[in-house]
Amino acid sequence: MKEIACKLLVIGTGPGGYVCAIRAGQLGLDTVIVEMAKPGGTCLNIGCIPSKALIHAADDFYGAVAMAAGKNAMGIRAENPAIDLAKTMAWKDGITGRLTMGVSGLLKKAGVKIVVGRAKFRDGKTVAVETETGQQVIRAENIVIATGSAPVELPALPFGGKVISSTGALSLTEVPGRLAIVGAGYIGLELGIAFAKLGSKVTIVEALDRILPLYDTQLTQPVAKRLSALGAEVLLGTKVRGMSATGEALLAETGDGEEKRIAADRVLVTVGRRPVTEGWGREELELDMDGRFLRIDEQCRTSMRGIYAIGDVTGEPMLAHRAMAQGEMVAEIVSGKRRNWDKRAIPAICFTDPEIVSVGLSPDEARAGGREVKVGHFPFTANGRAMTLSSEEGFVRVVARADNHLVLGIQAVGTGVSELSAAFSLAVEMGARLEDIAATIHAHPTQSEAFAEASMRALGHALHV
Ligand code: FAD
Ligand code: NAD
Repeated sequence: MKEIACKLLVIGTGPGGYVCAIRAGQLGLDTVIVEMAKPGGTCLNIGCIPSKALIHAADDFYGAVAMAAGKNAMGIRAENPAIDLAKTMAWKDGITGRLTMGVSGLLKKAGVKIVVGRAKFRDGKTVAVETETGQQVIRAENIVIATGSAPVELPALPFGGKVISSTGALSLTEVPGRLAIVGAGYIGLELGIAFAKLGSKVTIVEALDRILPLYDTQLTQPVAKRLSALGAEVLLGTKVRGMSATGEALLAETGDGEEKRIAADRVLVTVGRRPVTEGWGREELELDMDGRFLRIDEQCRTSMRGIYAIGDVTGEPMLAHRAMAQGEMVAEIVSGKRRNWDKRAIPAICFTDPEIVSVGLSPDEARAGGREVKVGHFPFTANGRAMTLSSEEGFVRVVARADNHLVLGIQAVGTGVSELSAAFSLAVEMGARLEDIAATIHAHPTQSEAFAEASMRALGHALHV
């Protein structure tokens, strides 16, 4: 049995853990990070990156199919487009491989020691890791739990065989002819749209009466329209019962009691993710919980001194950039800096077609406190760049206080609007007012002009609408 001691031990190399460890190393802290799978966690290996790679490949393929069908308004022709999904996956694996190697390299560059194996707490200061070469005991002054999340499994649809999670969907080597998806949230819609473009007959079963319940219907309506144009069927207010006796079809029941039998080659279950709170010795500790999640304060401290928690294991929103921001903050706190979670907003993006971005409050959320608000809405139909990109669907919407014009929230739906999230986040974080955005020169021709125009419209003087 080997023993080491360090100032900071991080469990998990997802976006939360690896960012925390890199920053700690930069700050000169003697840091160790433990990972039982590949560096990069869910995000790099089986989440954000591989899903966006598949979405991009699906877009390209779908564009080629439209060209071959003579449906390209620009006059571009293609013949007999085909996709070799095994090759697509190999390309995607090449990207994730480069990124995970990059994470290992950055950790080493920052002087962080990487230990490979499953970490388990012995007590509040000691962790044992089962490594390939035996047990490694690590004593640490401070420990960060960054164990992330895993897909929720439905008792009636256990993973295995036809029934797959996002991880399974992101490693398919053949496009399923008929794909049934349970859950019309982030993953169900991002991957559902991608597979519909790749040629699957997609049916999505959602328990609630709307898709993407996190976003308002004005934002989700263009996505619903696109799903329909892609031939995807969405069954709202419908509950799944399980697979048929022969395993040929997914059984579901609509809100008015109608039985549905959805013939499927694959059933993708995307009904949320659960925090990984087991398997690392939580029973040896006295950690307060916040529902299913580890309870943390505004410095990511748990209820035990010297133990911090970051990322998906600490709650919603389960997003990579939240985990990274928490990780960076915790490393600075451990190094003695005074830091607090003081973010005004965490941007959220759904990489559907069209994409949805939301930063800060929606109009309804802003009004909920009885506050008077101004809302400016600018459609991409009036934006030259959007026209040249053949993507006129969607809009930018700015929400501000009526009294002093402080921007409270910014949302957009449209092709490629994910890249506008940086400007939106900066505006909210810096406390911009409508006049600040309206007075900023936005380069022409770009979709970002819609941001300035939406702000001008809230002030009553948009120029191009
Ligand atoms: P994780 O990334 O889950 O990493 C936790 C790590 O801890 C894992 O590597 C695990 O092996 C390790 N670990 C757990 N227990 C132990 C142990 N006992 N010992 C050693 N190691 C351990 N978010 C976005 O912001 N944008 C997106 O576009 C996006 N797309 C997504 C697409 C999909 C299909 C999925 C599934 C998720 C997506 N997410 C996205 C969510 C994002 O992946 C997570 O929010 C993010 O990975 C959370 O980071 P984390 O560091 O908390 O945990
Ligand atoms: P989700 O919470 O986004 O959506 C789950 C959906 O499943 C909801 O609409 C819910 O009403 C529905 N549902 C739940 N139980 C059901 C049932 N029994 N039958 C039918 N429908 C049911 O969850 P997800 O799509 O699995 O994604 C998990 C998390 O991963 C997200 O919440 C998000 O934090 C993260 N993620 C983020 C991105 C991104 O940032 N672009 C992309 C993918 C995943």
